[in-house]
Amino acid sequence: MIYTKLQSIVNQFNMDQYKGLAIYFLFYLYSSGESRSYLIQTAIENGNRKAGSENNLAFDVKDNDEEPQLLVDLNPKGAGASLRALSPKTSKFCDDPDLLSCQIADISANILGKKSILLPGNIELKFKNKVPGNDNAYNYEGAGSSLIVIYNPESSAMSGTATLADGRTFVLEYIGEEGHLWKEMNIQKLNQLSYVSNGNRGEGRTPFQDFIELPPGNINRREWNPLLNGTTDNTTMAFISVKIHFTKEFASITSNINDFVDKMLAITNQGFLNSKVPITVVMNCLEETGLEETGSANSMFDKFENSENLYQTADTALLLVKNLGDLCGIAYTYAIHGNAISVVQKSCVETFTYGHELAHNLGCQHNIEETKNRNFPHGQGSFIDNPYNPSQGYHTIMTYWKNSHPIKINSYSNPDVIYPRTNTKTGDPEKSNNAAVLLQNRFFIASLGDESQQCFLKNCLNGKCKDSGLQIKNW
Ligand SMILES: [Zn+2]
Repeated sequence: MIYTKLQSIVNQFNMDQYKGLAIYFLFYLYSSGESRSYLIQTAIENGNRKAGSENNLAFDVKDNDEEPQLLVDLNPKGAGASLRALSPKTSKFCDDPDLLSCQIADISANILGKKSILLPGNIELKFKNKVPGNDNAYNYEGAGSSLIVIYNPESSAMSGTATLADGRTFVLEYIGEEGHLWKEMNIQKLNQLSYVSNGNRGEGRTPFQDFIELPPGNINRREWNPLLNGTTDNTTMAFISVKIHFTKEFASITSNINDFVDKMLAITNQGFLNSKVPITVVMNCLEETGLEETGSANSMFDKFENSENLYQTADTALLLVKNLGDLCGIAYTYAIHGNAISVVQKSCVETFTYGHELAHNLGCQHNIEETKNRNFPHGQGSFIDNPYNPSQGYHTIMTYWKNSHPIKINSYSNPDVIYPRTNTKTGDPEKSNNAAVLLQNRFFIASLGDESQQCFLKNCLNGKCKDSGLQIKNW
């Protein structure tokens, strides 16, 4: 029998010590008397080209007593501003059926890091934290609204997602010479994608189910090791690596693939932080797939699962697509056999779908009314009642939308976390504690790959990617 000992040394993230941070997570796995060590760097060094750049903005919270300024200005001034409009080149990046509006905006990156900033509509947000895994990722919050924003020192551009208190969601995207776009997502439509599945609760694989239960004994990417599972350590950071694939169709509507992916990881890692779960997702590889989109979640998932170099050496694999038909995402649940894969539609990244599907891989399930968790009885999503407005309640990441609780929050159910807007717990120890499932299974999932190979596309903009300066890809 294999004797396995897990020894981990980690530097906990400390909000005051981000500058120049290079945290190394040493993960020693002793198996069959043979010692192997996996050195996993955080995203700060691992693929996020921005760390350490001389152009890096000061990250210390700037002590500003002055009036907060607009971070995103929808009334661009300056020379030629009145002439700026959506050109055919620009409008291509507005070609997403899940958008309500799409317009050119100016940004003020120099105010990033200040205590307070304004979004269009005079929405004031205060700096809360840097997002684990990326030294250029900021989280701002205020009165129920939040903003994840990434600064790219190479292009001096920003990308971000603002989730407002009233449920509206706006996306900031850099498109090159023409500046930035400010897009409103059709959240109601994205919610309906989830809602459709309410009528399809059957076991097995149905057209509207976003998870697939694995038959036992399927694939063993790495020997199942119970000692890596069921940890009682609730503080050590687990770094879960992901190989990210994307389709040509995804690339055609994504002006800046690197920034989009960085933002997606920041949204996901902020979700773990909000839930007091020490997991950081780290990109290990970014690659275009040759798979053509079918517009169907199940067929896309099949194609992806059977494709080459799925994980390479990462723990998990993700495929980003433009259109997944009736679903926002699809994944295997409880990837006990190493099948930690998921497919996610681009627009749904804004509603935390990558965090949702990744949590399926780790064993989490929906709210009990939707799907019973067969592996972890407490691993269900939760609703949070809104005492101030009962028709505007909240639901956690794994929970499906319903009329009385239409607003999704970037948190997993957790009885140890209080949701500030209601001052109530986000979960129940017996009934809804997906955070416990994430805590319990995180080291096992993090052990699936050894991260010995990396592959990155860099400097992708408007259909061209310079891959480490050697190759240029065109879409
Ligand atoms: Zn799901």
